[in-house]
Amino acid sequence: MIPYGKQEISQQDIDAVINVLKSDFLTQGPKVPAFEKSLTDFTGAKHAIAVNSATSALHIACLALGLGDGDLLWTTPITFVASSNCGLYCGAEVDFVDIDAATYNLCPIKLEEKLIVAKAQGRLPKVLVAVHLCGQPCDMKAIGRLAKEYNFKVIEDASHAIGGRYGDKAIGSCQYSDITVFSFHPVKIVTTAEGGAALTNDLHLATQMDLFRSHGITRDPSLMVGESDGGWYYQQIELGYNYRMTELQAALGVSQMSRLSEFVAARHVLAERYNELLNGLPITLPYQLPDTYSGLHLYVIRLQLRKIEKTHKQVFEELRANGIGVNLHYIPVHTQPYYQKLGFHLGDFPASEHYYQEAISLPLFHAMTVEQQDEVGSVLTKVLQG
Ligand SMILES: *Cc1c(COP(=O)(O)O)cnc(C)c1O
Repeated sequence: MIPYGKQEISQQDIDAVINVLKSDFLTQGPKVPAFEKSLTDFTGAKHAIAVNSATSALHIACLALGLGDGDLLWTTPITFVASSNCGLYCGAEVDFVDIDAATYNLCPIKLEEKLIVAKAQGRLPKVLVAVHLCGQPCDMKAIGRLAKEYNFKVIEDASHAIGGRYGDKAIGSCQYSDITVFSFHPVKIVTTAEGGAALTNDLHLATQMDLFRSHGITRDPSLMVGESDGGWYYQQIELGYNYRMTELQAALGVSQMSRLSEFVAARHVLAERYNELLNGLPITLPYQLPDTYSGLHLYVIRLQLRKIEKTHKQVFEELRANGIGVNLHYIPVHTQPYYQKLGFHLGDFPASEHYYQEAISLPLFHAMTVEQQDEVGSVLTKVLQG
């Protein structure tokens, strides 16, 4: 089976992890700060907080922004459930903004329409999670303008988008957002096995996220209530968690980050090859927003079902049966049973539901060979025409 995504581990990566195993620190040593520096160097953000997953990063981002009981978090239905669950963890209510038909990202026009209604009802969101689906950046200028006008905070869920750019700035620079989150799960662009990070230019948010990742405990006298008792002393000043990344993971991350640009460039070569290979089939190829460079985590096609004699499910299952490890990103979050219990209904977000009926993620990973890609093309052609 040709997988839809796959990590690439070099000898340099393996050596980096082994060196940590032989060192003094398996956790809370120098590698996590070094990994954080590689993230701020690459993105231009001032601060990075590395944690054990993007899910944890989203949680501490929401906590740092003060999201809590009675607040609202909005995001897109076409995302992994973690993008909205972080709101529920904080006791907030979650709602969604339907997607744009071309980019599959949260639609800024629908966002503005929903904000106008919400303002009239006194139900404006406190936090918006903007997800760069497939690595394609959201329309951050429009989102940033609305954030100022309607006074909400913006988290970029850039789990798919590290190595990409919006205008001339790297994704993660937080030019139009408060916090950007990355995932380092093995299917993503660079990996630390499990891992995530939250980036920001705001020192207060960075300090808060640093506290939340490690029990809410500080050893910094300037953050303490009253005087330090002595050299052993620490204080718990928030209710935090243990969301720390290990030194092994961070060392792998530093090593992987040195190849990030290479990884994304290889994905672009493959995506352009797909565009040529698949041109003329009854499918819609990915659209790219002008002035952006995608991280290209995913290559999603949409079936033009009126021109195909098979159902979406048939095409998907025939591809899998013929060794093509396709996937579907994502089942609209509001249709999940847990979210249905919260009061969402089928029909609430029609563009997202329509997308779900047609979308298929083709295999794409930086070490994919031309032969593997040709195989995907010829099987897909056969399945669509057969
Ligand atoms: C993978 C992913 C997450 C969660 O990442 P983890 O590191 O596995 O917690 C969140 N949001 C999106 C959009 C993702 O793709």
